[in-house]
Amino acid sequence: MKNTTEMDRLIFEKGRAGRHGIPLPAMDVPSTCSIPGKLRRKNPAKLPEVSESEIVRHYVNLSRKNVAVDTCFYPLGSCTMKYNPKLHERIASLPGFADLHPLLPQLRQGGALTQGALAVLYETEMLLCEILGFANFTMQPLAGSHGELTGIMMIAAYHKSRSDKRQVMLIPDAAHGTNPASAAMAGFTILELPTDEHGNVDIDHLKANLNDNTAGIMLTCPSTLGLFDPKVKEICDLVHQAGGLCYCDGANLNAILGRLRPGDLGFDTMHVNLHKTFSTPHGGGGPGSGVVGVNEKLSPFLPISRVGKRQDGSYFLDYVHDESIGYIAPFYGSFGIILRAYAFILSLGRNGLVRIGENAVINANYVRTRLKPYFDIPYDRVCMHECVLSAKRYSTSNIHALDISKAILDRGFHPPTMYFPLIVPEALMIEPTETESKETLDAFVDAIIDIVKKIEDSPDEIRQCPQNYPVGRLDETLAARSPDLASLQ
Ligand SMILES: *Cc1c(COP(=O)(O)O)cnc(C)c1O
Repeated sequence: MKNTTEMDRLIFEKGRAGRHGIPLPAMDVPSTCSIPGKLRRKNPAKLPEVSESEIVRHYVNLSRKNVAVDTCFYPLGSCTMKYNPKLHERIASLPGFADLHPLLPQLRQGGALTQGALAVLYETEMLLCEILGFANFTMQPLAGSHGELTGIMMIAAYHKSRSDKRQVMLIPDAAHGTNPASAAMAGFTILELPTDEHGNVDIDHLKANLNDNTAGIMLTCPSTLGLFDPKVKEICDLVHQAGGLCYCDGANLNAILGRLRPGDLGFDTMHVNLHKTFSTPHGGGGPGSGVVGVNEKLSPFLPISRVGKRQDGSYFLDYVHDESIGYIAPFYGSFGIILRAYAFILSLGRNGLVRIGENAVINANYVRTRLKPYFDIPYDRVCMHECVLSAKRYSTSNIHALDISKAILDRGFHPPTMYFPLIVPEALMIEPTETESKETLDAFVDAIIDIVKKIEDSPDEIRQCPQNYPVGRLDETLAARSPDLASLQ
């Protein structure tokens, strides 16, 4: 690792016995311990002992090594890395929300402390039903993939309730990898649907594979190619006629928000990533929220608990649903995240939500049009929230999507998503989101043009990027599976 300074050293190595940052008040109650002896540590935990200034510097320095939406443009396709307004943080840190404990009593009698939180859950559910065209939502799933599993489990429960042994889930080849994983976990066999030459589901292939073993389809809308399939409604109708149900992967809704309701297209269930479209933070793998909408047909199978509202206006957690698929998460889901999404919806209002779509689509198409002379565009038509380019023409100079991405980092931007969707060779998937200005988009596009112009004259310079970061090109599998946080050479 380059740029190693004293401050880079792990906080564990910096500890010195007896140093501390927080003076704890003297104990004024008798000391007791209810943990049984056999469960107690034999030796005290090896915790670093550091002063307050050391710990502050350690974490601030670590945070400055990260690339983040608050430090730069972050066009990571399919992840919708839009700006997260600080207003949401202020609301989420109000003590009435932040200090709630999930075990506080839920009933009004003596338990009014949680009524506000339950109202937030209930009202966010109502707003999402209205925005997306569903009868109910479960607010519990803790990630998009968790939402997929929840929705697909409800589809399985529906078929089971009718003693229907349908086994096959249809999934386009452009889908996010979590789709087949969720369907397989819910017990289905997966049949991959090819994409046609326009970037849509190959409808003839679909028709040829529909039969009384079809459990359903999982369709991403708009697709991971950043395209809107004009036959979505026809596809839903065909699957329904065959007796299957339709799942919408709605992780990224930026483009259609306020314009189109997936429930109206015929989808029976969908998940929505609040940590994408609804602008809540993506925090190092969590907390996320993948709330799931259902129509009337699937409502009986919703997970418990649900937030109910009584005649007198009070809210309660409702556990009594005979056909429910059961618990999928404890308590309320990612409450603080749902609260931020609620703040986002209310602060933008109806007109604001519609403008998200307009600006997200204009921004993606602006980038696509400006970069078109420099890349191949596999399905060249007006895109939705993101555009997918192919860098395959540079393979002859032995420069790949990875090299271009690393060079983008050195120019002060987060790279796009690479090598996804899998059906596009050398894919670069750019999702600008609605929260970026034309000046930012121009600076980003100019940086990419600068990179591709260098490929001919000085390809080595591109291959040696990035130069400006503490780590450059990692073995990503090794880094994820067995991170070595202490070695800094
Ligand atoms: C992000 C994403 C998911 C998965 O969401 P997670 O919260 O990361 O589990 C699923 N499908 C699509 C299309 C996505 O972009």
